[in-house]
Amino acid sequence: MQMRLFRKTRVTLALWYAGVMGLIMSLCSFAVYEVIIQAYLVSINREVESVTVTLHNVIEANLKKPGRTEQIFQLVLPNLCQAESSCPTQKIFTHNQLAHFEHGIVDVLYKDEQYYIRFVDTSGRLIAVAGFQPNELPKIMPVTQVWQTVKDSQSNRYNQMSLPLHTQDNQLWGYIQVGRSLKELDSRLAALKLVLVLGLPITVLLVGGSSWWLALLAMRPIDSSYKQMQQFTSDASHELRTPLAAINATVETVLDLEYLSEPEARDTLTSIKRQSYRLAELVQDLLLLSRLDRQTLTTELLPCCLNVLINDLTEEFSALASIASLTLTSSILYHQPIYVMGDEDQLLRLLSNLIANAIQYTPGGGYVNIVLKRSNSHAVIEVRDTGIGIVPHEQKRIFHRFYRVNSDRSRRTGGSGLGLAIAHAIVQTHRGSLHVQSELGKGSTFIVQLPLIFSQLQKY
Ligand code: ADP
Repeated sequence: MQMRLFRKTRVTLALWYAGVMGLIMSLCSFAVYEVIIQAYLVSINREVESVTVTLHNVIEANLKKPGRTEQIFQLVLPNLCQAESSCPTQKIFTHNQLAHFEHGIVDVLYKDEQYYIRFVDTSGRLIAVAGFQPNELPKIMPVTQVWQTVKDSQSNRYNQMSLPLHTQDNQLWGYIQVGRSLKELDSRLAALKLVLVLGLPITVLLVGGSSWWLALLAMRPIDSSYKQMQQFTSDASHELRTPLAAINATVETVLDLEYLSEPEARDTLTSIKRQSYRLAELVQDLLLLSRLDRQTLTTELLPCCLNVLINDLTEEFSALASIASLTLTSSILYHQPIYVMGDEDQLLRLLSNLIANAIQYTPGGGYVNIVLKRSNSHAVIEVRDTGIGIVPHEQKRIFHRFYRVNSDRSRRTGGSGLGLAIAHAIVQTHRGSLHVQSELGKGSTFIVQLPLIFSQLQKY
């Protein structure tokens, strides 16, 4: 079930990622394509404009009668061909044919068969042509528009500029039309289109593959926290079941009896009370942990004097220590009171858990010492014991929920494995740290560091 859900989420994530990336890349490719077209067209049109305007200015200055080609035409355009003369209107001038012409002022016109020049009269009838003449261009083209894109019979495109020509006495002579082939641009754009059309699906496939992998990476922490949650639920149910089962068994046994004496009834009720106390404690711990996790606990942070807290706790636990035949002491290694911002109840709970553990895991005749000192910007509390110690590979795990180094032994002593998890969560809420130094058979030291309050820092 869980596997299926994760797989489905992974597929959905990967598809969304690939889809969004594909869309972004398509839009980018389209934008690049458009920008390239525009850049090419602008440079081509600039060239056409400069050629047209140069020819126009040179020729217009020498025009006398509307529709008549003056000598200047031949001088500027050596291959000019009159429309009504013997040379074909759509004549193609090859490089060889052009070789003997002396180039005029517009060399560019004869290069690479890219330009054509046409002169039309006021009614749009063709008068003369020059340059390379593409096959089957429409004979009459509207002259009202300055810029036009025209096509020949083979669908080759040309960008054409038309300008009116006037005679010296300011009569309309006709029009000059200069066209530039877009063949080179079209073939480059076709190649670019091919690259984009083929490249895009390949790239989307690659993105799909990598997003499948990325989705796995993204889901790993969720997967592990999901597993932790499952583990936590199963551990919690297990822990809750134990006292419940004990209560159940006690009640069943008593119900099976025909007669119950008063001392027996008292014993039964004491046992039930013990188990329900354990149950209530466990539920409270779980609730506290969950609130600390979600940070919903209304933690009122006030200045707390650690000296007072430690003195109170030492006094409170001294009875328990003497029952366990231990010596409990505290050492304050700083000459002034040490304050931290904190929730007093939570700080008491944190230190109680550590001291209770130290007493619990130290055999009779041993020592437990609580040390308070400061280092730079932190207050440091050490709970040292001469107890059983913890092997190095367990030292990180003891802070996990329900983890017990030796579960049988801990259960016997009543531990649920939540004490250090709660201590760790409280320390985190107070922006501090908690770690352990321990040697098996020699003892352990739990070290808590809490940030000092600002005013105390300034004094320091
Ligand atoms: P428990 O309720 O079982 O004490 P804790 O979370 O407080 O749970 O501790 C987790 C485990 O860490 C304990 O089961 C114990 O094995 C180990 N531990 C904690 N404190 C000490 C200590 N001072 N000395 C040795 N072992 C300890």
